[in-house]
Amino acid sequence: MALPHGYEMVIGLEVHAQVTTKSKLFSGSSTAFGAEPNTQANEIDLGMPGMLPVLNAGAVEAGIKLGLAIGAAINPASVFARKNYYYPDLPKGYQISQYDEPIVKGGQLEIQVEGQPARTIAITRMHLEEDAGKSIHDLGPVNVSYVDLNRAGVPLMEIVSEPDLRTPEEAGAYMKKLRTLLRWLGICDGDMEKGNLRCDANISVRKPGEPFRTRCEIKNLNSIRHIMHAIQHEAERQVEIYEKGGTVSQETRLWDPDNEETRTLRSKEDAHDYRYFPDPDLLPVRIEPARIARVQATMPTLPDVLAQEFAALGLSHEDITLLTSDITYAAYFNQMRAAGAESKLAANWMMGELFGALNKREISLEQSPVSAAQLAGLVKLITEGTISGKIAKQVFAEMLEKGSEAAAIVAALGLTQISDEGALRAACEKAVAANPDAVAKFKGGNERIFGSFVGYVMKETKGQANPERVNAILKELLA
Ligand code: ADP
Ligand code: MG
Repeated sequence: MALPHGYEMVIGLEVHAQVTTKSKLFSGSSTAFGAEPNTQANEIDLGMPGMLPVLNAGAVEAGIKLGLAIGAAINPASVFARKNYYYPDLPKGYQISQYDEPIVKGGQLEIQVEGQPARTIAITRMHLEEDAGKSIHDLGPVNVSYVDLNRAGVPLMEIVSEPDLRTPEEAGAYMKKLRTLLRWLGICDGDMEKGNLRCDANISVRKPGEPFRTRCEIKNLNSIRHIMHAIQHEAERQVEIYEKGGTVSQETRLWDPDNEETRTLRSKEDAHDYRYFPDPDLLPVRIEPARIARVQATMPTLPDVLAQEFAALGLSHEDITLLTSDITYAAYFNQMRAAGAESKLAANWMMGELFGALNKREISLEQSPVSAAQLAGLVKLITEGTISGKIAKQVFAEMLEKGSEAAAIVAALGLTQISDEGALRAACEKAVAANPDAVAKFKGGNERIFGSFVGYVMKETKGQANPERVNAILKELLA
């Protein structure tokens, strides 16, 4: 929704994405979700004196992957720094993060809001940092709080965008694009409900063309819907302040989805409040070009590249969007193509019939009882004219049940399409001879009754007649 009085929004997002490593950023503790509190925190995570952090190479590799995927520069020598603050769930009294030398600098994401041209959103940086523990206040008696340190030290990527976004819809599109990419690369589950993908939204408003004004930051948004709502409400709040002649003060706010409003959490701290300094326990992270090349070699084709390839095949925008939303979809589709299925028909069968059936069974594509090669086999029978699209649905139902090959089902049930000219002509002649009334009506100008002859032939042939030939022969007989 547009803002009143001609204001526009200026939005920059800071996204925290949990890296899918088995162990933590600087210790060997497990990162598995849902364990009993404090069973996955060792001496390093607890911040015991004298413990030395050891950097997880898998997290660095994930960072390189993301950097390459967004066209960023990989820093040849990034630095881990201590960000000092006190909190009960931060036993060390500091968080290990990166400050002026992050692992990834620059880059961009292309986003598209439906009905609008694509836009490129610049990314400022991506750094690696450890997560804090979790304070739990509402579990036991009043005035008793608990601390769970299972999450302490879990690796996060913080991905910071430039203030390039202008609407809540663009912010939503950016989050979706980023989530897809993170999952595609296999470096983050992107599950916002579980909190392994979270977003802080920075918002200011201005009249178009003016310099940027003061921003507020809304912390820890955990769904795309919340992000979009919070941005809209926060922007409206700021417009109201300006229109009353007031000023917006820079602060950190929280989104309250029940009351649909943002609330002050604290006035914004500046970087110097944290007394950042290089962590003396950790050497700079040196990344050689050869290592980047090794990671590059393991990268899948990116969704944007595949989208262009699919567009060249003549697929619709909707089909391309769905196929490139999940790497398993794109892989299945490409396997169908490799098995010789025609692209458009393959896409239709995969995302129409197959996805419909999987949805009904509440299973994922990876659990599909019909493999890509098998579905391609069915599609090929249609394009070769062996079966009609209608019969194909019957065959597909069998394939789902039995997991067998399309050709085998067609042979076993005798479903091969009748293309034999003599047999088709005989069936059509019978249809005409058996329906003199309809013939009279048709000749009297009722063209719609033509369908009843086709229906008759299909019934006689149990749906196996080649529909194109039947139409042609009937037209000839009734001319
Ligand atoms: P901090 O770490 O203090 O939050 P950063 O410099 O990392 O500060 O910036 C945080 C985010 O704020 C970035 O995503 C940036 O794009 C965004 N941002 C900066 N200035 C503005 C502004 N005037 N309005 C909206 N967002 C802004
Ligand atoms: Mg911030």
